[in-house]
Amino acid sequence: MNTSSPLLPNYLAGRWQTGSGPGALLRDPVLGTELVRVSNGGLDLIEGFAFARDQGGRALRAMTYAERAAMLAAAAKVLQSHRDAYYEIATANSGTTAKDSAVDIDGGLFTLGYYAKQGEALGDVRFMLDGPAARMAKDPTFQSQHIMVPTHGVALFINAFNFPSWGLWEKAAPALLSGVPVIIKPATATAWLTQRMVQDVIDAGVLPAGALSVVCGSSNGLMDALQPFDVLSFTGSAETAHVIRSHRAVAAQSVRVNIEADSLNSALLAPGTAADSDVFKLLVSEVVREMTVKAGQKCTAIRRIFVPAALYDAASQAISAKLAGVTVGNPRNASVRMGSLVSREQLDAVQAGLAQLRAEAEVLHDGASHTLVDADPAIAACVGPTLLGTRHPDAARVLHEVEVFGPVATLMPYASLDEALALIRRGQGSLVTSVYGDDPAFIADAAIELASSHGRVHAISPDVAALHSGHGNVMPMSLHGGPGRAGGGEELGGLRALNFYHRRSAIQASTAALKRLGAA
Ligand code: NAP
Repeated sequence: MNTSSPLLPNYLAGRWQTGSGPGALLRDPVLGTELVRVSNGGLDLIEGFAFARDQGGRALRAMTYAERAAMLAAAAKVLQSHRDAYYEIATANSGTTAKDSAVDIDGGLFTLGYYAKQGEALGDVRFMLDGPAARMAKDPTFQSQHIMVPTHGVALFINAFNFPSWGLWEKAAPALLSGVPVIIKPATATAWLTQRMVQDVIDAGVLPAGALSVVCGSSNGLMDALQPFDVLSFTGSAETAHVIRSHRAVAAQSVRVNIEADSLNSALLAPGTAADSDVFKLLVSEVVREMTVKAGQKCTAIRRIFVPAALYDAASQAISAKLAGVTVGNPRNASVRMGSLVSREQLDAVQAGLAQLRAEAEVLHDGASHTLVDADPAIAACVGPTLLGTRHPDAARVLHEVEVFGPVATLMPYASLDEALALIRRGQGSLVTSVYGDDPAFIADAAIELASSHGRVHAISPDVAALHSGHGNVMPMSLHGGPGRAGGGEELGGLRALNFYHRRSAIQASTAALKRLGAA
């Protein structure tokens, strides 16, 4: 490795610290050039976590929700002023087009701004009442009042490579608003953008010391530094999630953990839909968008498409025709619509996953048919979108189990709605499903059926065609997370996100004492 690439410093224990050793190299996934290195070798993690817990936590808890909301607004303003630099880093390190970089960068800023506004409305208080006081006996002078107080620990975030900006701020905004200091460990492949954003906010001095830290590189030792009142939010693969769940901090010390893992999200076209209808066209557009935004590297992307059996061929042709028009390659070329995967390792993983899926499916549109624009196939981690299909989804196993984290989806026909719902559930719990129909009764019934196995049900009908937020877009006012294989986590959902960073306690006391808490 050429060690002349700059080594990014970590920010821990209130100071910038450069890790020892050569560290890990971050590359441009399109050009293959070396960018920067990251290392946390030799850092005293125990000291850093203690600093965040003690100094950062104390300073944040001394502030009210409204004061912390103002702090978030100030951080958002700082980040806005550096947006151009973030776009440059995203192009270089993630290989994304400007439109795809926006999903991450502007999505992160929007979420931060959203929590700044929501937090303002919580007012000048330092804890929250949870419901009204409840009588514990006939005599009303002794009652129980539940309250929510910020946990006296740190929030450790271990994040995935696909959202270095949004993945940070969608977690940090509710944590900081709650009064809990944050330590972020970004995925190594794309750590640069996260590190730079933290640097800008720290340098601007808008947060108290210890409120925000960044540790780049290896995850070794991070979880060993956790203590019982800390919380851990993980986003990544199901394999790593399993390691996290088995760690002593979680298994023996009850560190609260939130897991966002992988997911075989689906799209469902209503029974009886006509091939020339608006509903059909809406499904086709959304599938193509989901397959190609961020080159399919979105945990929420549509992976399985369910259509009435009579429309299998029509859907195959319509989706394939649109995919054929997608230009793939170097995001610096204005004609390119879909950029790169994040690394050659991811390209290998996508090819290996595709080979697995192909054992059970036919190729309806082959990504290999796309000629790369301004990119060398021997160097760039670019790949065209591939639509697979099977006429026998019930007999398939891998198609319902293996998530290929790239521009790949599988079309499947169904004979009855019951069969479609059963096939969707074979994803074993997903982040999101979208349903396409123009009958409100169908949408409502399908949503109720699908809600127990999905964190979000996104219904698209012609009346909301120009309004809806998109199957895969995670909006801060709606829940993100899903049961079962999706990790079982819950993020966002407006102020619900604050629950994870608070402890609930029942205060049993005289009505007079409870009144001092603000209880009615
Ligand atoms: P990953 O390999 O599991 O890595 C995720 C994070 O865990 C990285 O920061 C990684 O660090 C760290 N890590 C690796 N081994 C660890 C260990 N033993 N202990 C603690 N941390 C460890 O996942 P990925 O490949 O980056 O992300 C892709 C996956 O994430 C996909 O499956 C996707 O579906 C899922 N995802 C889910 C969501 C969601 O919200 N549900 C969002 C985005 C992505 P290094 O990078 O240094 O290895």
